[in-house]
Amino acid sequence: MSVRPSRLRPSRPNWIAAQALALICITVTLGLILGLQTRAQFGEIDLSQRAYAEETAAKGALISDLRDTLGYGGVIHNFKNFVLRQDVVYLLETEEQIARFRETIDRYLDLVPTPQERAALDEIAAAITTYEGMLPLAIAAAEQDWSPARTDAAVRVDDAGALAALAELERLWRAARGANTERVAKAVEQGRTLIWVGFLALGALVLAALIIGYLLRLLHRDLRQTLVRLNGELDDRRALEQAQSRLATIVEQAPTTILLTDTSGRIEYANAKFEALTGWSRAEIAGQTPAFLQSGDTSAAGYSEIRARLARGEIWRGVFRNLRKDGSSYWAETTILPLLGPDGAVRNFAGLGEDITEARKARDQVVRAQKLEAVGQLAGGVAHDFNNILTTVIASAYLASLDAPEGSDIAHEIAQIDVAARRAQSLVRELLTFARREPARRQAVVLAEIVTEVVALMGAAIPPLIELRFDPPERRFTVLGDATHIHQIVMNLCRNATEAIGAGSGVIEITLAAAPDDQVRLSVRDDGPGMSQDTLCHLFEPFFTTKAVGKGSGLGLSVVFTLVEEMGGRIDVSSEIGAGARFDIDLPLTGDAAVGADAAEPELPRGSERVLLIDDEAEVAGSFRRLLLRLGYRVDAYTAPRQALDRFRRDPAAYDLVVTDLVMPDLSGLELAASLREVRADVPILFVTAFRPGEIAIPGPVPETLEKPVNPNRFAHHIRKALDGEHISTHRENW
Ligand code: ADP
Repeated sequence: MSVRPSRLRPSRPNWIAAQALALICITVTLGLILGLQTRAQFGEIDLSQRAYAEETAAKGALISDLRDTLGYGGVIHNFKNFVLRQDVVYLLETEEQIARFRETIDRYLDLVPTPQERAALDEIAAAITTYEGMLPLAIAAAEQDWSPARTDAAVRVDDAGALAALAELERLWRAARGANTERVAKAVEQGRTLIWVGFLALGALVLAALIIGYLLRLLHRDLRQTLVRLNGELDDRRALEQAQSRLATIVEQAPTTILLTDTSGRIEYANAKFEALTGWSRAEIAGQTPAFLQSGDTSAAGYSEIRARLARGEIWRGVFRNLRKDGSSYWAETTILPLLGPDGAVRNFAGLGEDITEARKARDQVVRAQKLEAVGQLAGGVAHDFNNILTTVIASAYLASLDAPEGSDIAHEIAQIDVAARRAQSLVRELLTFARREPARRQAVVLAEIVTEVVALMGAAIPPLIELRFDPPERRFTVLGDATHIHQIVMNLCRNATEAIGAGSGVIEITLAAAPDDQVRLSVRDDGPGMSQDTLCHLFEPFFTTKAVGKGSGLGLSVVFTLVEEMGGRIDVSSEIGAGARFDIDLPLTGDAAVGADAAEPELPRGSERVLLIDDEAEVAGSFRRLLLRLGYRVDAYTAPRQALDRFRRDPAAYDLVVTDLVMPDLSGLELAASLREVRADVPILFVTAFRPGEIAIPGPVPETLEKPVNPNRFAHHIRKALDGEHISTHRENW
């Protein structure tokens, strides 16, 4: 995931905005100035026009009035006419004009004349006043009929000054009118210029607006592009954040332990699985190196090799036995890898660990089972031959003991032979069990009872300084299994514990307790010397022993393992040097059922019936024959099954019982039995064999099977019962 490189150019929009702003400012200022100017100009035009209308025009009219009242047809004219013609009409006219004249002067004065105008007005007014002053004299002259010449001389008024003043007033008025017109013209001219400027400004404004519009368009486009880019970047960033959060979730919730350290090995991160598996919290381990996990299994050289690899940038893979916070250990299939930064330099180390403790246990179990199977096949073959030999030895010893004088040396030697042969037989049985050649006779077994038996048996044999403890629980704890096998399991564990404690003092404790999943846990614990890690690894292997040659066979725990597995159970061992050992066996519980009781062993039963005996091994056949003869029976013994079959065919009714081996090279026991039954369907048959057959499929009643090595006691009982047609069931060999 990558973020698009930022192409943000903040200067361009800023520049455009500045330009637009400047243009707007200039335009507004220009507009303002123009507006103010135009306003002032119109004010000026208005003022000068009003000045013209109000003052100049009014004054013009008044001056015109003054000229009318003063000049031809005016006061001077009428006064002169009155003087010359003495017509009263002129007098009245004169008086009226004087009155109008004064009124005009007053109106002029109302218009606020200039000092020059005022001087001219005063001059004119003075002339009029003089004419008015002459009026009574003129009237008197008329009444007295003065000659016009006399009257004229008497009342003559010099009005040249007034006329000059009037001319001056007119001149002043024209001058004022000229100035006013010029002012208006100037204002109008300025107004025109202003209109031009206005037009230009308007043009500039339009241009500016266009430019501003263009700039705004540019700005808009830029902003849009920027927005699109920012949106894209935002999406990228969101996607990146989402991806990161997804990755973080995976790392955090991964079923693998994940540790992240800096290059000096100090922990920077540990995921939830790490906490759950090791029991250490992140706060406790932050900043530490993972050395607290080391169990000591890996050597210092091993660690330097790992460091060297990582330093070369290589990945290391391997398996560690690590310690939890509580001191227990777990196996972790570990991968340590250097994490590189963008520059290719190592930034961190990551350690990924898979908890393979269970898988390893299971694998060990499978490996062990396979080894057991291989060795078992071998042992089975050997055991078979041994059985035949031991059967002969035991039978011969038994027969010899019958003839040996009681208490004699011979009897003693024979007893020794018997003891040795039985010990060998017990070893063979273990071999056979281990080889699974001896099938289990499963039934409901009360575990507590078996343990009590073993404790009673062992109690007598163990050294006095060793205490064997067992408190039978209230619950019966019934399991489905072979009582002999369970016996053997407990026995082997107790014997190992006893041998481990040795001559010193110690305690062996057996407990029974409920376990999860409807199981019972049988534990045998001792406070002996315990075991090394190495011994623990090989413990269940056949023929593994730490005991001196001749002392241990190395089969005890292999047998235990096989038997437990056969019962659908599981065995676990925990031990440390100096801290004793503890074996825990979990077995599935079953409903309670009656437990078979031991058959009592009475005197050897005898008989006189005729027995057809077949065994391909001459010694075995010989031993059985001698035994049978001793027990009173009549015997025809064969080592070749076909010969025996021929003999039987000749006289089927002659035999009361056929005793035959199962595994024979020429004709198997099963084939022989089938042929015999063809001849005589009800002939009783007893198989004596080292291997219990899986299924016996022959016509007629299923024959009993007696397993080798055969001891005379069981042999005698089986013969008797087979003859009597009784069904025999034994679950334990007790002799
Ligand atoms: P054997 O007893 O013939 O040696 P096992 O298979 O019974 O064979 O035992 C194998 C080895 O396991 C023993 O040699 C011994 O080193 C070790 N072992 C078994 N049980 C114990 C125990 N309770 N304490 C110490 N070591 C034991």
